[in-house]
Amino acid sequence: MSAPTDKNVSRPATRPATTIVAAGRRPEWTGTPGHPGAVVNPPVWRASTHLYPDMATLRAHPGNEDGHFYYGRRGAPTQWALAQALTELEPGAQHGGTVLYPSGVSAICGALMTVLRPGDTLLLTDNAYEPSRAMARGLLADLGIKTVWFDPMDSGAFAALCPGARAVLLEAPGSLTMEVPDMPALIGAAKAQGLAVLVDNTWASPLGFAPLAHGADISIMSLTKHVSGHSDVMMGSTTAGAQWYRPLRLKAQAMGLVVSPDDAAMMLRGLRTMGLRLEKASANALALAQWLSGRAEVAQVLCPMLPGSPGHAFWARDFTGGCGLFSFVLKGGTARARDALIDALSLFGIGYSFGGFESLATPVDPAAIRTASPWPRPREDGTREEADRFAVRLAIGLEDVADLMADLDNALAAWSAAR
Ligand SMILES: *Cc1c(COP(=O)(O)O)cnc(C)c1O
Repeated sequence: MSAPTDKNVSRPATRPATTIVAAGRRPEWTGTPGHPGAVVNPPVWRASTHLYPDMATLRAHPGNEDGHFYYGRRGAPTQWALAQALTELEPGAQHGGTVLYPSGVSAICGALMTVLRPGDTLLLTDNAYEPSRAMARGLLADLGIKTVWFDPMDSGAFAALCPGARAVLLEAPGSLTMEVPDMPALIGAAKAQGLAVLVDNTWASPLGFAPLAHGADISIMSLTKHVSGHSDVMMGSTTAGAQWYRPLRLKAQAMGLVVSPDDAAMMLRGLRTMGLRLEKASANALALAQWLSGRAEVAQVLCPMLPGSPGHAFWARDFTGGCGLFSFVLKGGTARARDALIDALSLFGIGYSFGGFESLATPVDPAAIRTASPWPRPREDGTREEADRFAVRLAIGLEDVADLMADLDNALAAWSAAR
């Protein structure tokens, strides 16, 4: 389900904080013919069957675009409003649109299925979200698609891999280890060889990084994270310009993918406050990252917004925002001591997600899944300490940062006692 924006958008160009409030609220989706725009939000249109007034209307093909009633699998105004809002938020998507999927993973799958054919080669960043790696090893391999993994921090080596490849899937920063690569260099090298460039932009959202404006072809998001913001609904999206929007839409239709209007309404509700939540979570995260980097128990803090973190200079140059998700590496210790640290936290849930209003902590063990880049990764000064391999990923929420700091202080004491 998706919506183009090249029609019916009559607002003047606005800045992102304004766009996020106004986007997708077409008067015909938030009112009745006699009362256009009568309410603020589009109602939840629960509909599988769409009705036609007469045979002539049924026979006239309504066009394969959203904004046309046809059948439930093509969505109705609630889903169209969300898709259009996401398109309006994505710089560079003006003549394309957004396709919605039941999860972020299905959005990644939909994008890969759109750009790849049997016999093709995919380049995949070595620090990718683990289910993306699993998709390459399983689903794509079964279809005769080869995957080559690369170190995202080595733009020169990446450029040498591009000739002959069909597509690349990038992620910035990496899901667990948070390196920010030189995105313009990677995208430029891939486009010079004609690759389709896909970016998993879940960490930054379009408020923090604009993949299409940087030359990428498809911007992918797990809406489950920042857009939902409340840890209670799952969805994914792909947003693209004119070249890839229709192929993405047709592939999603071929796979029969739909999202429910109830979930779309939840996502629209979350979207309206996303900018505010990201600002607060980023400020909290940066304060905690700075504090952790001064702690004797901590070997390294991996937080894109923190000077000295891998790729911070690229973040400062290319990004317009951050979020609450970052990791830190403990100085030596054992896996058991790290478990003690996480168990000692009382304000952090233990769970695999981020972008909610509440804080979370999980253990990070990248060594087991890296194939093209080393872990522990060398520091900016070139040093690398093998013992410093146990890391923790924190998803920082909207709590008072002083309470989170006190909780972490207590947990570090538990780690020291257990190590
Ligand atoms: C969570 C996540 C996904 C998958 O999203 P789901 O909605 O959980 O399927 C994809 N990419 C990144 C970077 C994620 O963090």
